Amino acid sequence: MTSPTYLLILVALVILLGALVFWFAEAVRVFFRYRGRMLFTCPETGKAACVKVALADAARSSLTGRPQIHLSECSRWPERQSCGQECLSELGADPQNCLVWTKVSDWYRGRACAYCHKPFLELAWHDHRPALVGPDRKTVQWNEVTPEKLPELFETHLPVCWNCHIAETFRREYPEKVVVRPGNRGPMGELLTECKKQDAASRGLEHVARPS
Ligand SMILES: [Zn+2]
Repeated sequence: MTSPTYLLILVALVILLGALVFWFAEAVRVFFRYRGRMLFTCPETGKAACVKVALADAARSSLTGRPQIHLSECSRWPERQSCGQECLSELGADPQNCLVWTKVSDWYRGRACAYCHKPFLELAWHDHRPALVGPDRKTVQWNEVTPEKLPELFETHLPVCWNCHIAETFRREYPEKVVVRPGNRGPMGELLTECKKQDAASRGLEHVARPS
């Protein structure tokens, strides 16, 4: 074969390779766009449901056209497995907004630990996971809570940093080894500032003093 023929074959191979890369890149993009556990509001109950998109089907269908999105898991299954999956309309323009991780990060961001008042910055997956404390004064890390229960807990619980979660767990499990100094704690055991102390006292400690 002559040199121009080699050149033509080479150009054709490069174009073919480029097309293949572009083709698979779309499938990879779809895979990452919809991956992860998500929280939807179930249209039937109005309560949160934890779901997963069927990634393999979405990526595969994107190779031949518009990706077909449906669920592979839902916390309401198997009882409601035959539902119409209307909740998928909540995916919106950016499905990442529906991720459990995103909702947890959004809740902690801008808040402060109920005990040490240290503000939460951006959460990172490699960090120690922070916790929540409820009216029973028991701290629990957010990843130990069933995901679909989190939105409910976000309304009734206060955020707690990992360090204070460990300290409070020790306090709870080994009370005989801890010296308690009462007088500056709210109904959930959270540390109160002077302002919040007066506020809680004026309301007879019947409401939760929320961190700023
Ligand atoms: Zn803390």
